[in-house]
Amino acid sequence: MLPDQVPRDEAMIKGKTAVVTGSTSGIGLAIARALAAEGTNLLINGLGDEAAIERTRLGIEGEFGVAARYSPADLTVPREINAMMAEAETRFGSVDILVNNAGVQFVAPIEAFPPDQWDRIIAINLSAAFHTTRTALPGMKARRWGRIVNIASAHALVASPFKSAYVAAKHGIAGLTKTVALEAATFGVTANAICPGYVWTSLVKKQIPDTMRARGMTEQQVISDVLLQAQPTKEFVKVDEVAAMAVFLCSDAAKSITGALLPIDGGWTAA
Ligand code: NAD
Repeated sequence: MLPDQVPRDEAMIKGKTAVVTGSTSGIGLAIARALAAEGTNLLINGLGDEAAIERTRLGIEGEFGVAARYSPADLTVPREINAMMAEAETRFGSVDILVNNAGVQFVAPIEAFPPDQWDRIIAINLSAAFHTTRTALPGMKARRWGRIVNIASAHALVASPFKSAYVAAKHGIAGLTKTVALEAATFGVTANAICPGYVWTSLVKKQIPDTMRARGMTEQQVISDVLLQAQPTKEFVKVDEVAAMAVFLCSDAAKSITGALLPIDGGWTAA
């Protein structure tokens, strides 16, 4: 084979195992489903109604013929994160792909920002990724193959007012991603951050009332003058577009992409 050819049969992630945090809804669920469609076994995680999550899990198994397990780990609790990662190793024998996706938001001016919301956002959006990565990396390095995909945000690259904790956590995950990429570079392990603009999920819907209060706007004004104002395409990004990028980063064709912060933001951060 010529050195510039991508080995097609090695581009497969079939039979590998992925842990996707916060995959009971939104972007995480779309990524879990897209990985399952490639034949990847899954450990899904997140909060929500137990029966609905079980239906989601069984749906993934049935539709894609992979094994899917669910961990209810609360990512604010390092002990529960460690148990989730140990469960994935025990059940599947390895964690080959780690998608740090779980995230929460809170919108308020910094003087009024509740300290417990700051702690919660830093814990879920940033520290949880440290705990999962710390645990998954030794096995990935030993097997000389691994993919770490962090779902950051356009807010890893630029700031917006009233989102101090979120912007700080997302800039933090950008730094973590680059550091992990450098440490893992010679082990066949990549670490990248996807930086979506506004994606129409519950995380965005939930911040509309707070933004209405913080800015004194109507719901429609928040959508057009705050959210889509930043996005030159004037369209929300779709969860499946983010999922397709995550799957590509897991392929062998993407093995030279590491330490990258990749916007998928309708041109937001080009401005
Ligand atoms: P979402 O609310 O649909 O999903 C968030 C997921 O995180 C859910 O599965 C939820 O159960 C889980 N989660 C929340 N707290 C948790 C905890 N303590 N323990 C375990 N799981 C927990 O939101 P989303 O928009 O799909 O967000 C996913 C990621 O994408 C987040 O990191 C978010 O910051 C990022 N992101 C979203 C947008 C957007 O516009 N929606 C834009 C850029 C980045």
